Formats: sequence, C-alpha cells, structure tokens
Amino acid sequence: MSQITQCKGTEWIAEASDRLLFTTNRPELIMDRGAGMYMWDTEDRVYLDFSGGWAVTSLGHAPAVIRDVLDQQSAKLIHASPSFYNEPMLQFAKLLTDISCFDKVFFASSGAEANEAAIKLARKYGAAKLGGAHEIITMTNSFHGRTLATMSATGKSQWDALYEPKVPGFCHVPLNDLDACFAAISDRTCAIMLELVQGEGGVNIVDESYLYAIRKACDIYGLLLIVDEVQTGIGRTGTMFAYEHYGIEPDIMTLAKGIGGGFPLSAMLTKESFDLFEPGDQGGTYCGQPLAMAVGQAVVQEVIQSRLADNARIQGDYLKRRLQETGEALGWSQVRGRGLLVAFNLPLPCGAELVKRCLDIGLIINSPSPSVIRLMPALIVTTADVDKMLRLLAECWEALYREQQAAAQ
Ligand SMILES: *Cc1c(COP(=O)(O)O)cnc(C)c1O
Repeated sequence: MSQITQCKGTEWIAEASDRLLFTTNRPELIMDRGAGMYMWDTEDRVYLDFSGGWAVTSLGHAPAVIRDVLDQQSAKLIHASPSFYNEPMLQFAKLLTDISCFDKVFFASSGAEANEAAIKLARKYGAAKLGGAHEIITMTNSFHGRTLATMSATGKSQWDALYEPKVPGFCHVPLNDLDACFAAISDRTCAIMLELVQGEGGVNIVDESYLYAIRKACDIYGLLLIVDEVQTGIGRTGTMFAYEHYGIEPDIMTLAKGIGGGFPLSAMLTKESFDLFEPGDQGGTYCGQPLAMAVGQAVVQEVIQSRLADNARIQGDYLKRRLQETGEALGWSQVRGRGLLVAFNLPLPCGAELVKRCLDIGLIINSPSPSVIRLMPALIVTTADVDKMLRLLAECWEALYREQQAAAQ
C-alpha cells in the first residue's frame, strides 16, 4: 500500500507512469502531502499553491475540518445507496437552500455531472412548458465540463472537431454581446447558460447590464437562466455565490470544485416551480453519498463561520492591487478578476514555460491559455502568502522575460 511513498525519485515515475493512459503532461514529481497553502512532493520539496487544486481546495490542504468529519462519518456510514435518505444529505440540502435563493437541490460528484443535470432539467422544462423547445444558448470561451453534452455546451474552439458528432441543441454566442444573444433566441430555445466569471476561458467577467437584460429576456420568453457556478460558487468571488454581485436570481445554479474542498462533490440547485423530474428521470450511484454530504456541509459551514468569502474579497483586492503595482514594470496587463479568481496577461505567449519555472522554485500557478496567468488560491490565503507568491512569480518572470528578449534580438 505504501509502495509509492517508499519508491522515491524520478526513476519510479518513468517506470510506473507508463501504466497510466496518457491524457495530460505531468511534471516529473509525485505530490505527497499538503497543509494549508502548501504541498510537498516525495523529495520533500515544498510548493506554495496558488492554483488551489484548480480552485478546489477552498479550505487549504488537509484541513482539520475535513479530516475530522471524514473520520466521524466513515466510522458511521460510508454508503447506503441513493435510494435511502441519510442525515448529512438532509442537513446539507437544508443548509444550501437556506443560504441561497433556491428551494431544491440535486447532489452529484463532479461539475460536469451537475451541469448534465441542469441541461436535462432545462430540456424537461422545454418539453413540458415550451412546446418541445430544447436549445440552450451558451457562451464562446465558456467551460462546462468534459462529458459529451457538457463538451457540446462548452464554447471552446479547440474542441470543435473533437468526438464528433456533438450532442445537438447548443448554440454559442460571444459573452457580453446582448444583440448576439437576443438574435440567437428562437422558439427552439429553452435556456441560457453561462458562467458569471468565465474561469477556464481566462477570467472574463459578465457585465451587470448584460446579465440584467438576459434575466429580463428569460422572464419575457419563459426561458431558464442557468448559472454555472462550479468555479465561482462557495465564497470564491467574495460573496457566497457570484450571482449575489448582480442583484438577480437565476433559475438554476450548479456548484462543484470548492464545495467539497477536494472531496468529489457537486450540486444543482433550482426553484420549487422547476421541480419537474419524475422518479427515474435523473440520478446516479453516488448522488447524496453520506461522506460527500458530510464533507460538503462541513466545508460550507466553515466558509460561513470563518467569513472566508470576506477574506476572498479582501485578499483578492489586495492581490489585484499588488499585481497592478508590480506588474506595470514587468509588462503584465489587464489585471482582472473577482475575489480570489484573478488573472492577468503576459506580453509574450509563454505562460506554460512560466508555470514550469515557477514550479521549479516552489510555486504553483495556472496558465489557462498561452498569454494568460490565472491565480485561484485557497480562501484561507493571507497577505503574507500573496507577498511571497509575488516575489517568486516576479523573480521567475524577470529571468524568463530577459531570456526571451535576448533570444528575439
Ligand atoms: C471545472 C469546471 C467544470 C467541470 O467540473 P468537473 O468537476 O471537472 O466536471 C464545469 N464548469 C466550470 C465553470 C468549471 O470551472
């Protein structure tokens, strides 16, 4: 069982990683353990984590809150089957509907799965209330997941030719372009689906007037407004949910990533009036799984009790201000974001190289596209962490930029 921790070094990686189906390039190291803002590899090198497990480890690495609740719940009941209630399921459903504008929740394990549930509910609604309308309008540069339907909903041009034919019934329009969205609405449309801050798309924020007009159009035409808060939900943007920044209420919201703090968990929430599924229409083996329910409830309670959404807003504002101050001389531009979902642009398309060099000196950051750097640390981040991250990042960037400029001459 402890084979991996016993076999240290890159020799072991080369030998054993061959057995993994190749789907992504991983660096030659093995992540071993974590605590708070840090992770350590099996060689005891330490990494400051400003990618937060991809906006997932909201309470930091290995938090006592999650360790304790896993301990207690796993000693009590790990799995009963989705055909039974369990206590944490009922408590967590009450908590999520108490703190949001929604009345009903469906639990699943991943963001894609929650979005699948939202897509199905929108189609069910279209069939029942809109004479069979089934089309969902989504945004260019959006990201909704990797199942076939959520890939079809995603507005990523690199995926256009992949796994054809796509699931039909999605059309993509540019974000914040009201005319384009209105032009796409037809009698086939049942819903409009969007992220309020596009995460994978490079941290693009939805305009207030745009969302307000879309909400109005949905009301007029009877369409569902679906917000994918898989990345923005549970405190990340400085409020518990990103829709709270806008003074509107969506009809459906999906949550994942930060809600489990690293435990696979997702949720789709909706209003009483869209409670349209019949028994058998939607489900899954792990829907409402007791361990996930107990962890989710503990994570959300901790975000509330420790005011981590406030911390996300305060540290996010500080991070953006420091990026602007430091970045001006370094060629960084377009510092943007909300709370702890922040990005900026590099003057050269060398994001992947910067990520690699930062990793080499013990800093984890993310580059969702070649000229964009995205930062989404745990919600527990402090100003000292931000300062340390900026020192490491600036150091790596200065060296890389100098080399690139010299090579260009
Ligand atoms: C990550 C992400 C997803 C997909 O979530 P998975 O848990 O990887 O399936 C969907 N929507 C958004 C906005 C995301 O950031």
